[in-house]
Amino acid sequence: MSRAPAGRRMLVVFGDQLSARVPAFAAIERGRDVVLMVEAREESAHVPSHVQRTVLFLSAMRHFAAELEEAGHLVRYIRLADPRSTGTLDGEVRRATRELRPVEVHATHPGEHRVMAMVRAWEKSLDVPVHVHPDTHFLTTLEQFREWAEGRRTLVMEHFYRWQRKRLGVLIEPDGEPTGGAWNFDKENRGSFRERPRPPAPARFEPDGVTREVIEDVQRTTPGLPGRIEAFGWPVTRAQAEEALRDFVAHRLARFGEAQDAMWTGEPWLWHARLSPAMNLKLVDPREIVRLAVEAYRSGRAPIHSVEGFVRQVIGWREFIRGVYWMQGPEYVRRNALGHSGRLPEMYWTGETDMACMREAIGQVLEHGYGHHIQRLMVTGNFAMLAGVDPAAVHAWYLGMYVDAVEWVTAPNTIGMALHADGGVVGTKPYAASGRYIQRMSNACEGCRYDPGVRTGARGCPFTTLYWDFLIRHERRFKGNQRMAMMLKHVEKLTAEARTEITVAGAALRTRLGISA
Ligand code: FAD
Ligand code: SF4
Repeated sequence: MSRAPAGRRMLVVFGDQLSARVPAFAAIERGRDVVLMVEAREESAHVPSHVQRTVLFLSAMRHFAAELEEAGHLVRYIRLADPRSTGTLDGEVRRATRELRPVEVHATHPGEHRVMAMVRAWEKSLDVPVHVHPDTHFLTTLEQFREWAEGRRTLVMEHFYRWQRKRLGVLIEPDGEPTGGAWNFDKENRGSFRERPRPPAPARFEPDGVTREVIEDVQRTTPGLPGRIEAFGWPVTRAQAEEALRDFVAHRLARFGEAQDAMWTGEPWLWHARLSPAMNLKLVDPREIVRLAVEAYRSGRAPIHSVEGFVRQVIGWREFIRGVYWMQGPEYVRRNALGHSGRLPEMYWTGETDMACMREAIGQVLEHGYGHHIQRLMVTGNFAMLAGVDPAAVHAWYLGMYVDAVEWVTAPNTIGMALHADGGVVGTKPYAASGRYIQRMSNACEGCRYDPGVRTGARGCPFTTLYWDFLIRHERRFKGNQRMAMMLKHVEKLTAEARTEITVAGAALRTRLGISA
């Protein structure tokens, strides 16, 4: 048995690691060692952070600290407004090390390269041993992902997902075959709505005293953050997160699959889980989420296509994205494979635009800090890529504006999946689509002054103009990509006049939106 060191240890808990069920907590002694938690002003300042995202993180941190104290832990908690605070996590770890003189510093593996570099610097400069423990709130260790990825020419999520299903034994029958007889049910999961959908209202958690106090503190110390606070109802404790999970499984999981990619004006949640913020703060464990979803299928409460579609997101996409982030290294966020340098249009901050689909998607972000996957990928993300906006500016927007944003998950989804700025690490082709896609998947075009089928002119849909313009601009780059062959065939058929007309319309639109000078 290893003997405890003679002095006190210090465990640094980052804002997105609000679980005591991790190895880092097993390494400290309750009531003797110190847990350090810091509300750092820099976290809202290094990218402009939506007011709900800021409040969610801080409220969940304060609740977690109170739970730890109740359980007998010694917690040194530095608030935003603390006059002694240096305002930075790094500064507070250094100050605590000076004042408390711990004999060891412990932390869980962070979710961002920037913070990892900070931890590595502590190892060198704090003059005490620093121990980094694995984050077991994921189903795959970083070593397991590396082993899976090693030697593969391209990283295909579908291959990873099947490997996960077999490795974890999720939705696998005793004979080793996938439950329901297929690995995916995508065909059944691409539906759209013919009429207004009537989803059940999801569980909402009214701000309690702690959250209300955080709101006041944030408004006082960091006024002017983007977004609105009024609709805040995210789970801020483990108990609330578990209630949100049960609510999803009981009322929305059964229909999750069919409507997964669909959008409808005024319906931000549809049958989605709304669990990413709680999962990313580690308020709820993905194992529990998967267990309850599979149980719902086994007991006949949800069909296989919905449960498989949901499980794919949690054990497939989420874990794949994290593996890619850590394998690709800190330079990944600066990738710009398509050489785009445009400014992010003002509408991303205000929601003011005559494009009905963008108004809806951005409006939801301002009101709730939320958009579902297809809104992020095929509306706000697709538009930014087609228009040639600088990927770093787009990434900063996503990282600040969604309540579930932490760099390990936001970066590969934005730089890779939505913008194709990683040159094909996450997806072998760009998710480029014209206004026709949005017309097929939503009702937005019905209330829009533009026509998704029209390329140029007064009724020309900006998505459609920019889609063709994008393909013309990058025609040579994508020529060798088999998966782009169909799209490029249509471009080849354009007459010289049509090409010029699209190029001129695209340039005018980018100037009008302030994307290019
Ligand atoms: P549901 O649609 O109900 O899905 C269930 C769960 O699956 C989610 O809670 C999430 O944990 C997981 N999941 C699904 N797709 C992904 C994915 N591509 N990557 C990782 N996890 C996934 N997700 C974040 O958690 N944080 C982000 O900052 C984030 N940024 C994104 C940016 C872009 C441009 C895109 C295209 C996607 C982004 N996603 C992000 C992934 C996805 O959009 C959200 O996880 C999802 O919309 C969260 O809502 P939900 O919980 O209702 O999810
Ligand atoms: Fe969006 Fe174009 Fe449809 Fe308008 S017409 S809602 S801009 S896709």
